[in-house]
Order: sequence, then C-alpha cells, then structure tokens
Amino acid sequence: MTSDLLFLDIWNKKANQKITLMIAKLEKILKRWDSTLRENKWCGIKNEDMNVLCAFIRENSSKDKLVKQVIDCRNYCIYSDMKTEQLLTLTRRALKTIKRRYHRTYSQSEMYKSVTRHLFSEQIKKVDGRPLRTLDVEVEKPATARFVRRYVEKRMGQEYHRQHKKDDAFRTNNKARHSVNRAISYQLHNIGQVETGERRTFSTHWKPIYDPFTGTTVLKKKMSYSTLKEAKMAIIQWHADHPEDNIPMQAYKCEHCHNYHIGHNRELKPVI
Ligand SMILES: [Zn+2]
Repeated sequence: MTSDLLFLDIWNKKANQKITLMIAKLEKILKRWDSTLRENKWCGIKNEDMNVLCAFIRENSSKDKLVKQVIDCRNYCIYSDMKTEQLLTLTRRALKTIKRRYHRTYSQSEMYKSVTRHLFSEQIKKVDGRPLRTLDVEVEKPATARFVRRYVEKRMGQEYHRQHKKDDAFRTNNKARHSVNRAISYQLHNIGQVETGERRTFSTHWKPIYDPFTGTTVLKKKMSYSTLKEAKMAIIQWHADHPEDNIPMQAYKCEHCHNYHIGHNRELKPVI
C-alpha cells in the first residue's frame, strides 16, 4: 500500500469512528427523551442535548432522512406550543431510522445460511441414508432423535465458533452459550420437512411452505408449544402482529408430536 493510500485509509477509519461516536451520542439523547417522555410526559431537555443535535445537523447533509428527522426534533423542542405526544412521535421516528441504518440485526436464517445449505444436502448413513433435512426430532424414534440432536448441536457449535472466534469477548461471557443454543433450536426447527408430496390434512403437524434449498413446496413443521396456555398466548401475539388477518385461530393438540400448534379455523378438523 502506498503512503497516499495508507493515509486515505487512516483518514476513512477516523471519519467512520467520528460518525459512529456522533450517532452513539445522538442515540443516547433520543433514547433518554423517549423514556422520560413516556414516563413523565416531559423530556427535560439539557443544553448539551441541543449542542449535540445542532452539531449533527451542521456536519451532515440536510438532504439526509435522519438529518431531516433530527431537525424536526430540534425545531419542535423549542416550539412554544410543544406537545409531548408529538415530540415523542418525532423522537421515535429518528430512533427508528438509527436502528434500521446502524443496528441491523441478522436473522438466524441469514446468519447460518451456509451451514444450513450443507446440512440440507447431507445424508445420514446411521439412519438408512435418509437426508438430514427430513429428520424431525419431534416425531422420530427417541434414539434417532437423540442422534440428530447431537449431530445438529455439533455442527451449529462449530459454525458459531467459526464466525465468532475472533471476537474480543468470545468465551468470556455467557452470550456464546445463549447464541449457540438459539442456533441449535433454529436448525432443529428448520430441518424435519416432508417432501413426499403428501397432502396436508386437517389439524396437523405441518404447513406447506416453499423451500429455497430444494426449490419445491414441502411440508414444514409448525411451531410447537408445550402447553395450551402458551399456544393461546401465541394466537394473541399472531393477531397483534397481523392486524389484517381476521380469520379466527385456534390451538389444538397434535397427534404426531403431542405438543400444541395453532392454526386458522379452516385448517382444523371439524368437530363432529
Ligand atoms: Zn405436532
């Protein structure tokens, strides 16, 4: 690397650090406003807050969406007829943009895409050469289920290690254990699909879904709940997340895994 390029690289790194620091300061202030506005209906704006907001506005392009939102917040703060609800809305809008832009969280399926692809193409000799992706720990025989569970645990543990071994806090906090357990649960839920072209019946363990790895529609297992109460809570959550869906839902006990699933009324076995 020539000295010019090296200088440019250092300069870019410094500029990035500065932006990150500024966003962190801004976010801290907006979060404080958000919580105090909700609790006390008054955000207690400090002079330093305005300095940070103004510096952020000054140093960034006024055409940027986040800058426009911060300008709205600043201008509304000093408005004589300020309403706390309106300020809360503006604050949250800016916080949402920061979250979307700077704290993008990756879903489990995105994080473990490559290992999922490998696992989906693997065939297990010990289980009559069946593809791993068709082995469902909830309905297989206990010995097979134990084997599949151990196999997936090992592979997901290795993948997590591969992705995070260079992290500073790796092995020194409990995050790794928690994340590996989440990864294992995700993958055990992900595998176990039926690909035989069987038609789905009422009140069943599966739902039809497109599988990007095989390029066909397969039957994937539904989310299981160990108690009826948990399943009913999941229905409430479903309606909160999908306000456009007004078809009633019900929880039912599954005859395949003996846990509970939820489904729309039209998918359930009619009561005779
Ligand atoms: Zn089931």
